[in-house]
Amino acid sequence: MAANESTSGTDASSAADEYDVVVIGGGPAGEVAADAAIAGSDRTAIVVERELVGGECSYWACMPSKALLVPGEILRGAQHMGGVSANGLDVDAVFTRRNSFTHDYDDSAQLDWAEQAGIAIARGDARLSGEREVTVASSPPHGERTLRARQAVIVATGSAASIPGTPGLAEALPWTSRDATALREIPRRIAIVGGGVVACEAATWLRDLGSEEVTLVVRGRSLLSRAEPFARDLVADALRERGVDVLFETDVRSVHRPDARDTGHGRIHGGPATLDLAGGEPLVVDEILVAAGRTPHTAGLGLDGSLLDDHGYVRTDEHTTAAGEWLYAVGDANGRAPLTHMGKYQARVCGDVIAARAEGRPLDGPAFRLRENVTTQVVFTSPQVAWVGLTEREARDAGLDVVAVDSDIAVAGAALARDDFSGRARLVLDRGTRAVVGATFAGTEVAELLHAATVAVVGTVPVDDLWHAVPAYPTVSEVWLGLLSSARDQLRQGG
Ligand SMILES: Cc1cc2nc3c(=O)[nH]c(=O)nc-3n(C[C@H](O)[C@H](O)[C@H](O)COP(=O)(O)OP(=O)(O)OC[C@H]3O[C@@H](n4cnc5c(N)ncnc54)[C@H](O)[C@@H]3O)c2cc1C
Repeated sequence: MAANESTSGTDASSAADEYDVVVIGGGPAGEVAADAAIAGSDRTAIVVERELVGGECSYWACMPSKALLVPGEILRGAQHMGGVSANGLDVDAVFTRRNSFTHDYDDSAQLDWAEQAGIAIARGDARLSGEREVTVASSPPHGERTLRARQAVIVATGSAASIPGTPGLAEALPWTSRDATALREIPRRIAIVGGGVVACEAATWLRDLGSEEVTLVVRGRSLLSRAEPFARDLVADALRERGVDVLFETDVRSVHRPDARDTGHGRIHGGPATLDLAGGEPLVVDEILVAAGRTPHTAGLGLDGSLLDDHGYVRTDEHTTAAGEWLYAVGDANGRAPLTHMGKYQARVCGDVIAARAEGRPLDGPAFRLRENVTTQVVFTSPQVAWVGLTEREARDAGLDVVAVDSDIAVAGAALARDDFSGRARLVLDRGTRAVVGATFAGTEVAELLHAATVAVVGTVPVDDLWHAVPAYPTVSEVWLGLLSSARDQLRQGG
């Protein structure tokens, strides 16, 4: 997608312009921050976007990835439901449905939303050119434009896939998450470098949609290093059962792809590639997907180096402020939690803080502070993994005196939901407050179990009160009964 091409209909002029709030980056975090900062007031905001308004999430990440994953999960559900017959996946129809979510890379619906919200949009590449000043470079004939912010500049520039410096890897033009989500040609053999969320989810949909040989090349000893160990093992076992080769403690020493070609996103980038693996046989594949972490879009933004951490993320305080009372950072750019919903959460806090400062109100309520240790995440593999707050290890490392209780998810409601329903759940409770500080669910369609746990964690609800939150029969939420019962026992026994 070419950048800097046009100026939207809501764009005002090409001269120096003043707005209350200038946002760099029109992804989910930038959009929500702009909206929250001006809502219910006569303040003005402009969002500068160099690609598509809606950001990575809408076109190359959350939306297309989930659109590619859900059909496989529905199929598995049908295959494991007595009395239901399933005929497999229609790959072209899956792609068509995926395209309906990415709107064929057309952001006009987002522009309509911005217009309705009273947010101006400028197309172009933005950088900070002074205090409260942003310069936007657009393609001719638009040229450069200077924006001045009366109240705030918000950095919401997101991140891009990192490509490790492995010899030959960049030259091989490997796929990144943008290719995997824009999937058009299905590689028969694919190596996925990485063991995190993107790697595990992509392995799932590539296998579902027809890749015959999927190999996960993982440097560490497990997948999903941030998850509870039992959840990591369930995902690895399930991938292996479905024919994915998972290679742990394996490094790619070099890559050789003599016929690498840029054929476009989601198409196979040329001829076969050979990966030289440390401690393993060479691996010959039709495509390589690099899913080895993200790099924030902060280089060249004009930010003082002292505002960035060692990885290039913008340092922010609990109010999302990066400098003075005018520079803020939200979303992937601040490195707090690279997830759409967490970026939007930060954006809501950021908007409230900007509004309060603009109106001379003190930041004295909980709405103005980011909470620590309340991150929620769902990994849409099969089984799914969903967690909130701290794992047992993280809680102990943080010096908390905790008990951890586990339960099988084989409750009455689960057995009715699907014949193959299985999984495991864990609560981590603080002995002092008797409240849940972390919860993990790993199993069939557990994503929707997460919010109840999130409410318990954020509300610091003691287990004796949770005991009165009765899950309806027969639902999967009945897993809470076993967990809370064990928690009460353990807290009573001091075990
Ligand atoms: C494959 C994949 C699947 C994912 N699935 C999920 C999921 O299921 N759930 C979830 O919560 N998260 C998911 N994520 C993470 C999620 O996509 C990101 O956390 C989210 O997009 C971050 O939002 P953001 O607004 O911070 O940044 P982005 O969405 O990256 O948007 C930033 C925008 O800023 C623009 N920009 C950057 N620099 C400039 C500049 N100098 N001038 C002008 N514009 C600029 C970019 O073009 C971009 O549009 C997934 C990520 C990947 C890769």
